[in-house]
Amino acid sequence: MRKLVFGIVLCLLAAIESSAAPGGAVRCGKLLDVRTGQMLTDQIVAFDESGVISSVAPATGAATSSIDLSKATCLPGLIDVHTHITANPTDAGYAGLGISVPRQAVTGVKNARLTLRAGFTTIRNVGARDFTDAAVRDGVNAGEIEGPRMLVSGPALGITGGHCDINLLPYEFHFKDQGVAYGPWAAREKVREVIKYGADVIKICASGGVLSKGDQPGTPQYTLVEMQAIAEEAHKLGRKVAAHAHGTESIKDAIRAGIDSIEHSSLIDDEGIALAKQHGTYLVFDIYNDDFILQEGAKAGMLAESIEKEKKVGRLQRENFRKAFQAGAKIAFGTDAGVYPHGDNGRQFGKMVEWGMKPMDAIQASTINAADLLGWSDKVGTLEKGHYADLIAVEGNPLTDVKILETVKFVMKGGIVARNDFAK
Ligand SMILES: [Zn+2]
Repeated sequence: MRKLVFGIVLCLLAAIESSAAPGGAVRCGKLLDVRTGQMLTDQIVAFDESGVISSVAPATGAATSSIDLSKATCLPGLIDVHTHITANPTDAGYAGLGISVPRQAVTGVKNARLTLRAGFTTIRNVGARDFTDAAVRDGVNAGEIEGPRMLVSGPALGITGGHCDINLLPYEFHFKDQGVAYGPWAAREKVREVIKYGADVIKICASGGVLSKGDQPGTPQYTLVEMQAIAEEAHKLGRKVAAHAHGTESIKDAIRAGIDSIEHSSLIDDEGIALAKQHGTYLVFDIYNDDFILQEGAKAGMLAESIEKEKKVGRLQRENFRKAFQAGAKIAFGTDAGVYPHGDNGRQFGKMVEWGMKPMDAIQASTINAADLLGWSDKVGTLEKGHYADLIAVEGNPLTDVKILETVKFVMKGGIVARNDFAK
């Protein structure tokens, strides 16, 4: 009885709030509370006209809603903290040299739409030439194009000849990529420059990489001193730093320098895991794309040396993902979309479960953890009052089969429906 009264009161409150600010409401047959891991039944998520959630409360028999998802399971919109929205897999290697910056922006428009419709209502884009990612972000925010909420980095900072440079052309071309900056003061200046042109986050290359020519994933690139300067400058200006780091030493240097997230984290050792825990550094393991690179990479035009490098680090990265998770390190969901086709971001959930997580852990990595890394815990990552009405729905229970998240059937961002296969 007390429960029933409580339910009616909540319902009345919901009615009052939604009538005060008419937006809409979604009725969810099931709703996953990603904070507690509880699966709630028959809930109404109401939102106001600015697309912000005004209440989440149990439905009653008479409750009405503008969107009926009573046969579906609702979750908060997913978050991918490592994307390359202006790139396609076929842009790897020499083919990429023939793609103009305006063309990359158009690719970004296409991929933003695909990403949103796959259920990812927020992304962090880490690396784009000429601030094409900032242009896509601004187009989305202006309502001109369809896409997720975006935090973007613009050009990634790195050393001469490193993973964040382009090493495909011979000397006579004198080509240096936009983020190359040498020494602590030049690196600080580059941080200021990318912020000037729209960076929400700073991306750097701490170690070598897989898809670059002439370097090795395990070897260090930026020094500790350079990374300390970058982290200090970025933090002073209110930005976080994401460091691409496969190599064991680079991972540790980046953590010691105060970098906020380690991207790839492939060759992290026990000391690196302990350091990450001690500093509260997020680890991002892109453990799905190994499959894509090994199966499709050569066809997509990736260099033979890249495929060889992936063969060396791919499995180790997955093993170290399991180790870091079991040790209790903070993990956020990031996929490196762009290396594999955008829209397939959800395929990483299955890999994370295959390599040691429970479905709920993987979902939390892509919701509350990712929101925390982005500094957006007050806006996204959970369905609660005051957060954006970013809501997705699937058929079935993702806690028993996480691969359901590969086929998201309903997507709403800020109260605006981007996809509703249930209405078909
Ligand atoms: Zn990347």
